[in-house]
Amino acid sequence: MQPTYTAEAEAYREKVQAFLAEKLPTNWKGTGALEHDELSEFVASWRQTLYEAGYLAPGWPVEYGGAGLTATEQVILAEEFARAGVPTGGPNDVFGIQMLGNTLLMWGSDEQKAHYLPRILSGADRWCQGYSEPNAGSDLGNVGLRAELDGDEWVLNGQKIWTSAGHLADHIFTLARTDPDAPKHKGISFLLVPMEQPGIEVRPIKMISGESEFNEVFYTDARCPKDDVVGGVNNGWAVAMSLLGFERGESAATGPIRFEAELDRLFDLARERGVADDPLIRQRLAWCYSKVRIMKFLGMRTLTKFLAGHHPGPDAAISKLYWSEYHKVVTELALDILGADGQQIDGRPPASAFNTDDPGAPNSSASWIGTFLNARAGTIYAGSSQIQRNIIGEMILGLPKEPKPPAGDR
Ligand SMILES: Cc1cc2nc3c(=O)[nH]c(=O)nc-3n(C[C@H](O)[C@H](O)[C@H](O)COP(=O)(O)OP(=O)(O)OC[C@H]3O[C@@H](n4cnc5c(N)ncnc54)[C@H](O)[C@@H]3O)c2cc1C
Repeated sequence: MQPTYTAEAEAYREKVQAFLAEKLPTNWKGTGALEHDELSEFVASWRQTLYEAGYLAPGWPVEYGGAGLTATEQVILAEEFARAGVPTGGPNDVFGIQMLGNTLLMWGSDEQKAHYLPRILSGADRWCQGYSEPNAGSDLGNVGLRAELDGDEWVLNGQKIWTSAGHLADHIFTLARTDPDAPKHKGISFLLVPMEQPGIEVRPIKMISGESEFNEVFYTDARCPKDDVVGGVNNGWAVAMSLLGFERGESAATGPIRFEAELDRLFDLARERGVADDPLIRQRLAWCYSKVRIMKFLGMRTLTKFLAGHHPGPDAAISKLYWSEYHKVVTELALDILGADGQQIDGRPPASAFNTDDPGAPNSSASWIGTFLNARAGTIYAGSSQIQRNIIGEMILGLPKEPKPPAGDR
């Protein structure tokens, strides 16, 4: 593990800090300090600022509109943005830029890259992720949504579920079964499907928090061009797994910064509520502090490997399991500190269902109750805790593989 940066890297950090100082309003505290109606306006104009500066896709080659930054520069940019409490893009960019864009750079044809990458960056196309189905979540290879060729088009029938930001998207990258007779991982293709067509219906799902960030998506004779298959027909499993590597690997740099800021806010809450001297609360806060420190070192280990040229492999499962299980515990402590107020939603709720509330968020009961509820989802999305433990057991510790049902029962 290499916990320090070179002088050259620190000089780049100063450049990013100068960019943030120039572009952000004075007395900026982070997006958490904005009211909801101010937030969407800020995110839209911030996205445009990043687009113009070439910072929306910092790692992409310049020819595709990226900044062509080195791995070290990308990490520093992500760290400084997280510290400043600003997003790296709009609500669909995690799907369009981080997941699909990086996957197209790896697997896309020249035509797909030339057509889609500039449209993702300009915001002309807004993407969401169509992987999960009612019978295909952890066992993603079980996808049942069918795609059949009809002349120059694929015709799709079936359903996706838990599609985050699907109501804000106009395209969905879709895992579809294109050969029902092949063994299950071999008959899947990765298709690029426009959503603004009669064959696609998006139905929001109401979450326990009262918000609707994810959706069901129904395909009834929906269509996409024959050539909009990425990585070859029936080769979608390999493409899908590359994309998941991009989904799971990004938070090593930014996660510890966000969790540190959240814990500082919890220390303030304990002081405000007069329980900072309670020995049992102090013991639990100290436990949280030790977990966030360890998370930081885990992040540094991942970053050291990334900077040496390795893509996140199975060890991304350690970080995912660690932060998501920690987050359930720290948010339970927050509700205990709030006491009876933890039953009453007051103030501004978190702006997103993912991870911590945004930096700068008020110490309101709505923020902590919302984050407590969202933390339950953290151990499910991007691979549940049980699945992360299986990956760690089988692929890192070399334990025997979990038993599979006999072939006839699958
Ligand atoms: C907030 C949120 C956002 C999401 N966004 C998206 C999105 O944008 N696009 C998308 O495609 N999907 C999305 N998902 C879906 C997510 O990927 C799935 O929920 C996840 O993969 C788990 O699948 P499942 O819900 O079908 O649960 P299941 O796979 O049915 O699992 C049920 C339970 O069984 C356990 N289990 C399953 N298999 C095993 C095993 N082999 N060994 C031990 N235990 C096992 C699981 O850990 C879990 O506890 C999102 C989910 C959430 C919560």
